[in-house]
Amino acid sequence: MASAANSDLRAYKPGQMVPISGIYNVIHLDHRAPHEAVAVRGDLFPACRICKGQVRFHIAQIVPHVTHDFDLAGPTLKMPRGRAKAANSGES
Ligand SMILES: [Zn+2]
Repeated sequence: MASAANSDLRAYKPGQMVPISGIYNVIHLDHRAPHEAVAVRGDLFPACRICKGQVRFHIAQIVPHVTHDFDLAGPTLKMPRGRAKAANSGES
């Protein structure tokens, strides 16, 4: 089923940089069925210990990493929290 000639999906090889964080389909040669794994942008795709450099990675679902999310890692905004406890900021 999993033919090697899937030019539709871009395949990444071990040693290449992960272009975008997300869930990847990991395609091995014959020793293991395809499975999913998370890869984080900027990391390198690893080689398989059995099929070595023959393993391929296809993006299955893009999932932003928390520290790459603008709202989570961008400049801090002063957002009013739902429940402000004390308006009085004097602390002693
Ligand atoms: Zn393998």
